[in-house]
Amino acid sequence: MMEIDHSIAGMILLALVLVLGLALLLPGLVRLCRWMAGPTVHGDAPDPCCAHCGYSVRKLGSFTCPECGNDLRQVGVIRPLPPASQGNYPPVLTAMGLVLVLLTVLVVVRNFSG
Ligand SMILES: [Zn+2]
Repeated sequence: MMEIDHSIAGMILLALVLVLGLALLLPGLVRLCRWMAGPTVHGDAPDPCCAHCGYSVRKLGSFTCPECGNDLRQVGVIRPLPPASQGNYPPVLTAMGLVLVLLTVLVVVRNFSG
């Protein structure tokens, strides 16, 4: 009875570690896939926007927002981050995820073979 409880607890722990590892690993993998797909197309960087209404103020001749009429020097301009820096995921977390997944696989393999 104790043996069964112990193995169930171990399996649950193993599953949790595996899920955690995958959760850490997946964003890094997605980023790697995007990187392998090729360089991002130039010009798809988000436009600077009026901080009051969010209207794009790219290539605007004046400091007056054409949408809401506010002075952009007063309300401010939002400059969204370019796509490259939006997907800034620490490689350390990817590595940790990989280690966790590998450890889980290792434990499972050892349990089944031994
Ligand atoms: Zn505006």
